[in-house]
Amino acid sequence: MEKLFISRDSLKKLLDRLARNLNLVAPVKDPEGIIMFGPVADAGQVLLEYQNSTLPPKSFFFPQTERLFKFSYGQEGMALEDMCGSDKRVLFGVHPCDLKSILSLDPVFAGAYKDPYYINKRENSAIIGLACSNPSPGCFCATFGFGPDDGEGSDIMLTPSGKGFDADVLTDKGQEIVASYKDLFEKAGDSPRIAGETRLTVKKLDLTGIKELLDGNFELEYWNQVFEKCLGCGICTYVCPTCHCFDIYDSSKGGCDGERYRSWDSCMFTHFTMMAGGHNPRPSKKERVRNRFMHKLKYHIDRYGLAGCVGCGRCVKSCPVNIDIRRIISDLGEVSRNGQL
Ligand code: SF4
Ligand code: SF4
Repeated sequence: MEKLFISRDSLKKLLDRLARNLNLVAPVKDPEGIIMFGPVADAGQVLLEYQNSTLPPKSFFFPQTERLFKFSYGQEGMALEDMCGSDKRVLFGVHPCDLKSILSLDPVFAGAYKDPYYINKRENSAIIGLACSNPSPGCFCATFGFGPDDGEGSDIMLTPSGKGFDADVLTDKGQEIVASYKDLFEKAGDSPRIAGETRLTVKKLDLTGIKELLDGNFELEYWNQVFEKCLGCGICTYVCPTCHCFDIYDSSKGGCDGERYRSWDSCMFTHFTMMAGGHNPRPSKKERVRNRFMHKLKYHIDRYGLAGCVGCGRCVKSCPVNIDIRRIISDLGEVSRNGQL
């Protein structure tokens, strides 16, 4: 790893040049004040300090709706036109929780099952991470063993320091960016990084015993206390950087031509697990709410050795009836210690 420094002025120049030479995606504020990741044309649009974006940058690897291919059926049989492919892109300003969430999606789409659409976008993207200098009150990333300055998952990690940012160059893709714009980087100085203090402000919940409790208790009485107020709106899953349920469908305007699409779906919706024969293994909200939290705190760990939650707090902010994963973690901890709440 190479440790460099980039001043605020040089960072603006870097962003201007990246926007000119490649596709630059960064956190921006829309006219209604909502913070989102989006394509930017110059550095003036880019937020260098922000609390978590309303939606995570997940959609740049796993779009909300994606056309997979076109098909047409004629005398020669079925012809397919593959829509897989993406331009080179730099994703700038990704916070540590969103970096971890991309690492959590990797084994889903690029593990035993290779998804060429996801893999193509991952390979063609470089990620510049940005340490959080002002985590929101809902953040609890420290629970999952990292903090607001953890650069794992980025190619270059920027941490505010003095009059600019320390730039830790972590991968070959990061080295390529530095080599292309080397006039803008300098040797790392010795100004203190902000993140040491910020780390202390982030909530750390105790996960002790929870995985073991869920391993041995599928029918836990506790879920009866949680599910009733859920509206089944699915917002918690749509804002989540690690959720990855999807549906695939064909669209055709008649004749023998059409297009196949993939769109985000949600395990909180009634029909998500509905079988063709009419059986639904998760028929009520109880099973669906349980599944969501079991996935975050058990199934993803079982399958990939990674937590299915990164503590970004987005679902906490968005749930209209205040179903709060932080509360659920602390309640499950209590049940694992005392057998009940
Ligand atoms: S479950 Fe909630 S807190 Fe955890 S990663 Fe998803 S949105 Fe963030
Ligand atoms: S956001 Fe809240 S109410 Fe909506 S599905 Fe998720 S837990 Fe249920």
